[in-house]
Amino acid sequence: MPAPRTASNDILDRPLQFMKGVGPKRAELLERLFLKNVRDLLYFFPVAHKDRASVTPVAHLRPGQEANVRAQIVDMRAKRIGPGREMIVATLQDESGTIDGVWWNPYVADKLPAMAWAFFSGKVIRNKLQQKQLANADFEILTSGEADDDEAAAAMGPASASFGRIVPVYSLRPKQRRPDGTEPPEVKLSQAFVRRMVWNVLEEGAAERIRDDLPEDLRSSRGLMNLSEAVRQFHFPESFAAVEQARRRLAFEELFVLSLGVALRREEIAKHETARRMPLTPAIHERIRARLPFELTEAQARAFREIAADLERARPMNRLLQGDVGCGKTAVALASMLLTVAHGAQAALLAPTEVLAEQHMRTFSKLLEGSRVKLGLLRGGATPAERRAFAEDLAAGAIHVAVGTHALLEESVQFKDLALVVVDEQHKFGVEQRRALRSKGKAPHVLVMTATPIPRSMSLTLYGDLDLSIIDALPPGRGEVVTRLMKEGDRPKVYKHLIAEARAGHATYVVLPRIEENTVSSEAPAPKPKAKTRAKAPKALWSEVKGVEEEVKRLREHLPTLRVLELHGRMPSEDKDRILTMLRDGKVDVLVSTQVIEVGIDLPSATIMLIENAERFGLSSLHQLRGRVGRGGLKGWCLVFGSPTTDDGKERLKAFAATNDGFQIAEADFRLRGPGQFFGTEQSGLPELVVADLLRDQRLLQEARDDAFALVRADPALKAAGHEALKKRVKDVFMKGGRLGLVDVG
Ligand code: ADP
Ligand code: MG
Repeated sequence: MPAPRTASNDILDRPLQFMKGVGPKRAELLERLFLKNVRDLLYFFPVAHKDRASVTPVAHLRPGQEANVRAQIVDMRAKRIGPGREMIVATLQDESGTIDGVWWNPYVADKLPAMAWAFFSGKVIRNKLQQKQLANADFEILTSGEADDDEAAAAMGPASASFGRIVPVYSLRPKQRRPDGTEPPEVKLSQAFVRRMVWNVLEEGAAERIRDDLPEDLRSSRGLMNLSEAVRQFHFPESFAAVEQARRRLAFEELFVLSLGVALRREEIAKHETARRMPLTPAIHERIRARLPFELTEAQARAFREIAADLERARPMNRLLQGDVGCGKTAVALASMLLTVAHGAQAALLAPTEVLAEQHMRTFSKLLEGSRVKLGLLRGGATPAERRAFAEDLAAGAIHVAVGTHALLEESVQFKDLALVVVDEQHKFGVEQRRALRSKGKAPHVLVMTATPIPRSMSLTLYGDLDLSIIDALPPGRGEVVTRLMKEGDRPKVYKHLIAEARAGHATYVVLPRIEENTVSSEAPAPKPKAKTRAKAPKALWSEVKGVEEEVKRLREHLPTLRVLELHGRMPSEDKDRILTMLRDGKVDVLVSTQVIEVGIDLPSATIMLIENAERFGLSSLHQLRGRVGRGGLKGWCLVFGSPTTDDGKERLKAFAATNDGFQIAEADFRLRGPGQFFGTEQSGLPELVVADLLRDQRLLQEARDDAFALVRADPALKAAGHEALKKRVKDVFMKGGRLGLVDVG
């Protein structure tokens, strides 16, 4: 959370460099943690707390226990434990008895004055002689060891940054990765030093100088601490309950500012009342139904009704259509586009890959055969002449439904009257791309579709400005899909299975991460593991990763009776078209491909999805791939070969095999990768959260969102006194890292 700015040049702006005990060397270390001034320090929140509040009498210490004691150093000696190696043994005594403190670091000796009282915190162990010892304890000297120390120590109470209370533990690892992607080492500062610094600025009253931007009424209605109190309690809490209260307050604020951004964006879109109104009349409805080869399922019909209700309004639709792989979103999109065309306007469908765009085009052409609706496909590989022709037709209104990839977003592509934009597989597009398409019409209605179910917290934040329609049931006649994690030894069995399926007229997909082996060219970069595991992950050897071209050769050799073909993103469009036609006509037994077939490929006779190097695919990709089989009511198999090297990778495959439920997959994915990586940090448009945790704080998020939306409803421009600071915060938060996409605030 960036610290809110205050107007005055006060204690908060004071550079840390000039604080007692800092100096240039430590100042530089602090700067590596992005700590330059007092304000930064106050917002440098601990990652954990240690209970050093309760002190155990030494006579009661038990081996295995992490314990705090307050004792006097009554004796100390060095013991030789090997050539040139010494350990320090100190006899620690309190009212109940004595225990030996042991350190395997000889320098400790200088820091333990004889007869001094001190706090010690460490693990109780048993030595070879079965004596209890306190091992490698942290300590803080309370008295100098002079006379009357006994009393003095007792009187000191908890007035210490590191002992006699609940103490903070800070992360001393700089957040930014090094150029090679590894984590930087911890900065060489001690916990005790940082604690002492924070303690001192709090003692000086720095926390009281931070301005609280949360409106008072909101704070009291949610029972939130005031900001100064929260900052103080988060660092040096009175109790663990206070830590939670403080954290809750700070997390709420982050989520509130985030939700304000979302609410403002929603408001921004809603205030345009210029969208074309396109009511679904009974006559139009009838014509649309006649065009579809099946009745919409109950769930599809509901989604379509919700969309049609939006399209009837002058306020632009901004809706997310979510439904698991194969639930039939395309039909709903088509119905919506036909409604648009029936009103004489244009619709555009944006697909993430060429293959999918082509398939949509094919499906639509078939369904719209003999109708007056004119379709146009803009291919990525189109020649300048084709491009010009397409652009001219589009500008003249001769194309009613335009299908294409992000090529549709280019400047040169202009519509005559674009009233509806459909974005398929939304998670493949960034916020920026959505905006670009939106800007092509006056204020087109926008429908985004995704098969990746979005965890609730994401739909409240990242997609919080969208209305949500859910298709929660599959069309009738779907086959069961069995998922199996395979071992190398299973290959003969697997290939026999492929042959048997081919005999039955069924097709197999074999998916690999790369087009060529031993090169860097890849259509499926390995999913980035979480920061924690990243540094440890061994580098994958290129040769371990299979490529399409080699695999085709291998399989042809291995399965001479089968027709094995390849499909990948680098093939010319005509070749792709030809392959897809052959596939549909049952002329392919095994299609070897890259991840390009992940989205949308729809072949009812496909029954096996064989995935190689599955460790290199993300969880949602795997689920999408699995969704490609069993679509024609036939039983399907998803056979997975993979050798994950990280714990996350293993978890991923386990989670994948454990459930077929897209929502659970998404939740697992979210949990394993964290919110940042879930949709890719760059395109997520989400500001970084420091205190709040989208998984853990879902209820808090809902509360913050309710409050934020209520505030924006009451004061849409955040103009009221006391709201301007909030508006500035929203701007600051969303502008960080140049992520302008999510909000436009005044
Ligand atoms: P997705 O939601 O994954 O994009 P599609 O739109 O590709 O799903 O639909 C999957 C398959 O289901 C297609 O073959 C489509 O023709 C079929 N389908 C869609 N809706 C229905 C329906 N109401 N009844 C029968 N089949 C349907
Ligand atoms: Mg689809």
